[in-house]
Amino acid sequence: MRVLVTGAAGFLGSHLCDRLVSAGHAVVGVDNLVTGRTANVDHFRANPAFTLVHHDVSRYIDVAGALDAVFHFASPASPVDYLKLPIQTLKVGALGTHNALGLAKAKGARFVLASTSEVYGDPAVHPQPESYWGHVNPTGPRGVYDEAKRFAEAMTMAYRRVHGLDTRIVRIFNTYGPRMRAQDGRVVSNFIVQALQGQPLTVYGDGSQTRSFCYVDDLIEGILRVFDRGDDQPYNVGNPGEFTVIQLARLVLRLTGSSSSIVYEPLPTDDPRQRRPDITRVFTALQWEPRVSLEDGLHRTIGYFKDVLA
Ligand code: NAD
Ligand code: UDP
Repeated sequence: MRVLVTGAAGFLGSHLCDRLVSAGHAVVGVDNLVTGRTANVDHFRANPAFTLVHHDVSRYIDVAGALDAVFHFASPASPVDYLKLPIQTLKVGALGTHNALGLAKAKGARFVLASTSEVYGDPAVHPQPESYWGHVNPTGPRGVYDEAKRFAEAMTMAYRRVHGLDTRIVRIFNTYGPRMRAQDGRVVSNFIVQALQGQPLTVYGDGSQTRSFCYVDDLIEGILRVFDRGDDQPYNVGNPGEFTVIQLARLVLRLTGSSSSIVYEPLPTDDPRQRRPDITRVFTALQWEPRVSLEDGLHRTIGYFKDVLA
């Protein structure tokens, strides 16, 4: 196949490109580098199967030649990033998704939307099945991300219904691993970098809020299964192992052998209290479930950040 990946120089996009190129596909990556880095795709430099185009996908996307698939992964994803870039985040979720869908339609390509567990907001149903419509504050600061992704899902379904486009929607739950930026601001990278640098680990709120953390390799495998064999309805892809933030902090301290302290800082506005994917649908339909435990995944990620910081 010849595949276009938006957000290819980001954390998840670059891992997706790795899997696609190693499966023998040609990949065109499109990225404006707002939160991504060319270093994430530097290893493709001498590889004719991969090209990177520097472009903002909120503007018309012009790509010559045939495409078999469009994976739309461009968007700031860390709360720190999207709170700094609220308008760009709304634009890439809305205009960027529209442009990526229009490109897929013009090329007759299959379209995959990287959606998010954040469509469930601060969920009143736990764990979250795909049938849950969510609990999102549209006017709060996080609304710029949550509502952009909800709009992106609605737009994807409209292209399916109106134009018969072949579409997939993946609701990604908190994913971590190598190539996250040290200053990304998300909890796993923050805690590991703080622990390795002997800085206090910054727990927001009292640390009793929960998240379910998926290792990046597991996530990419799930996305590719949805791409290959999924249908048009959304799929949760994430690891159902649920941890409080304070449990994560203690685990990172143990695995790094760090003597850093833990400090408590204010909880961000509308920070979800709990989050865990119900993965019954993706498991039943596609036999996907995560394989990497949090401890193993953290080991690998700690190794990565040790190299980066050295
Ligand atoms: P990331 O910030 O590392 O990557 C996003 C990439 O998109 C970056 O390279 C950035 O430069 C690029 N980008 C942003 N706006 C763009 C624009 N207008 N034009 C072109 N490129 C643009 O984040 P990530 O964690 O790799 O997330 C990738 C996708 O997965 C995002 O759509 C995100 O919403 C979704 N997602 C990620 C997670 C997670 O836990 N990592 C969870 C849920 C959803
Ligand atoms: N968090 C924290 N300390 C940090 C960064 C994040 O306690 O240094 C908390 C954050 O408030 C949230 C959870 O960790 O409750 C996950 O945050 P992250 O930004 O990774 O992703 P989110 O799931 O909120 O999008």
